[in-house]
Amino acid sequence: MQRVNRDRHLFGPGPSNAYPEATAALGLPLLGHLDPDFLTIMDQTCAMLREVWGTTNTRTLPISATGSAGMEAAFVNVVHPGDVVVVAVNGLFGQRMCDVASRCGAEVVAVEHDWGQPVDVERVVAAHPAPAVIAAVHAETSTGVVSDIAALGVAKGDALLLVDAVTSLGGIEVSADEWGVDIGYAGTQKCLGVAPGLAPFTINERAFGRRVEKPQSWYLDLGLLGGYVGGASGPGRTYHHTAPVAMVASLHAGLRRILDEGLEQVFARHEEAGRILQDGLEELGLELFAAKGHRLPELTTVKVPDDVDSAAVRRYLLERHGLEIGGGAGAYAATVWRIGLMGHNARPDAALLVLACLEDALAHVRG
Ligand SMILES: *Cc1c(COP(=O)(O)O)cnc(C)c1O
Repeated sequence: MQRVNRDRHLFGPGPSNAYPEATAALGLPLLGHLDPDFLTIMDQTCAMLREVWGTTNTRTLPISATGSAGMEAAFVNVVHPGDVVVVAVNGLFGQRMCDVASRCGAEVVAVEHDWGQPVDVERVVAAHPAPAVIAAVHAETSTGVVSDIAALGVAKGDALLLVDAVTSLGGIEVSADEWGVDIGYAGTQKCLGVAPGLAPFTINERAFGRRVEKPQSWYLDLGLLGGYVGGASGPGRTYHHTAPVAMVASLHAGLRRILDEGLEQVFARHEEAGRILQDGLEELGLELFAAKGHRLPELTTVKVPDDVDSAAVRRYLLERHGLEIGGGAGAYAATVWRIGLMGHNARPDAALLVLACLEDALAHVRG
């Protein structure tokens, strides 16, 4: 859910999932990308990313592009041509993983699930006796479902575990080291509450040791990116590409905000807002889409009632109330709504606002 204020574009004064601190940082005077003060901001950003990822990986950094570039970076760096990559597919982003892996020359074994269901760990590990990589999406934004990554970590055997945490990082618990995640990527614009444009990324020694020596992507080659962020991992800092300084400053401010509030508190806030929204939707007589017990608090999927037009309700919400909710993904484009309460929007008042406006919209379209 986003409150749209056309005068101010993305970041109006009303509910937006961007934290005000992160938005304000975008307006600060720009530092040069080699300015020592900026390098300090980058180092602190990487350190704070380790905290939210639950990792000690030295190679934890914001990749300079959106979440999908994090996905690309994950696959191009560890998938050698001919490698077997088992992908748990329970939504749109699992499908995208298959596409990306196949472009790296992988032999992709897609383990298909019904949309709305969590990843079936037993089926995924039984899909191949010795895959090089097992890949899964922690929080499927297309369906509103959370999957058990820790269980995959226990069962992964010798495979590398590659995890999409785009919609989980900063919203629900992610404990990369404890769960056995070898490679993970996220995005800034979901629960981290920052503008879109960076992909928080982490890779451990085990995965880095098995990397492709010369990945087909120069830009996303982690062997080179170690020098970009410098620090203990690399040979000191070297020029690789110009850091997007405004975005890194914004991510820095967003992470500071999250850690000042406290990760546990931030997770509890997302949990509470999601529960208020989901309970309220059921009280309105609507049916939730994601399987019970596996629902994300930060992204709620709800079935569009048979007697209303999905697009008409969304248009009314936008025009009358300045609220933007998502349509469904893939085959569910017109039959499911997706309502995000992420980052700064993960609050009881935002949940209640959505419920009130949606109730009004339903009454309006039903006449
Ligand atoms: C949004 C999203 C992505 C893609 O991120 P972009 O920033 O749009 O490139 C990947 N995976 C999941 C689960 C997402 O929700």
